[in-house]
Amino acid sequence: MIRHDVADAPPKACVVEIGKVAELYVLPSPRRSAEPLKRRRPHPDRKYGAFISIRRKSLFWRVADFERSNCTLCGAPDASIVYRNCRDRRHWLPGLFDVVRCDGCGLVRTDPRPSAASIAEYYPPSYVSFTAELSRTSVWYAVLRSVVRLPYVLRYGSADPWFRPSNRRNRLLDIGSGTGVYLEAMANLGWSVRGVEPDAVAAARAAERLRVDPHRIFVGRVEEAEFPPGAFDLVTMGHALEHLHDPRRALEKLHSWLRPGGVLRLWLPDFESLESRVFRQLWFGLDVPRHLYHFGRNTIRAMLEIAGFRVERVVPQYQANTLSGSVRHTVDALIGREVEFRESMPLYYAFLPLATMLLGVGIGGALDVTARRSA
Ligand SMILES: [Zn+2]
Repeated sequence: MIRHDVADAPPKACVVEIGKVAELYVLPSPRRSAEPLKRRRPHPDRKYGAFISIRRKSLFWRVADFERSNCTLCGAPDASIVYRNCRDRRHWLPGLFDVVRCDGCGLVRTDPRPSAASIAEYYPPSYVSFTAELSRTSVWYAVLRSVVRLPYVLRYGSADPWFRPSNRRNRLLDIGSGTGVYLEAMANLGWSVRGVEPDAVAAARAAERLRVDPHRIFVGRVEEAEFPPGAFDLVTMGHALEHLHDPRRALEKLHSWLRPGGVLRLWLPDFESLESRVFRQLWFGLDVPRHLYHFGRNTIRAMLEIAGFRVERVVPQYQANTLSGSVRHTVDALIGREVEFRESMPLYYAFLPLATMLLGVGIGGALDVTARRSA
């Protein structure tokens, strides 16, 4: 059911009622909303405007499936609002989402959220994991990189997420493997790699990149994947857990796929970080509605322990782009700009010294977690 001209909403706003569980607010930009759809033809000089308008219209009809959820960690239905009416600041797809904190255990989640059947609408082809490629770098860049990473490396060891396998124990599974950039780096270090990736195009690209049988990349959600018990020595999950509808169930599956003593390495945004508290709804790591859960040190530890893991190490992840990304979101909000997010390299380099200095003293926007399946 569609109602027009809702009180207190911007002109031309529509409210779609979806069953009894949730409401989806579609807010076309006021500048374009007065135009009839047929006049919104793609214009060769305007890369985003026309595309977004048409896509919003199609999404308007297709995303009719939002849901409310109970906490995946403790099952409690009650939660308190942290941020109200957050928007998709990366792709500007429609919908307003609250970020709430579970009254039972403190785990933060996005609510309402797109259902598992409709979440793919929020991953357009330009989504970063589908487009990631390794860039060629010069010697000078490599030197600069080593220098800025030094404070972090001295305190936490390597800043890179890749490392060599120990003898013969080299079976790796990467969850959310995207176009396979990470798998390729690990394969080159001697790992026997497999992946899980919900996007079929990205998965095909990964198989091509790795020159392996496409079956080595499972196409689908991790909740649907099946592997024999104890099949892996290492499972990695880089910025994927927060995208899942049931991360607890996923962690329980990963636990069973690891051999006893096998290692799980996770990277994920840190909702309790200083960066998150400073930028609030404009924090780059919030990324609603793709991020369905928002973990902090305590909540990720609690969930891993419930899934059967022993947590060995929780440190800030070396990731210098969330600070500049948050600054970019803030600038966009101040000037009212609603264009698809593109990483700005000048902004990245402007904030690199500050970001790396903060990482050196343990302040970052993401976590690097190591956990082990008990022997
Ligand atoms: Zn809870």
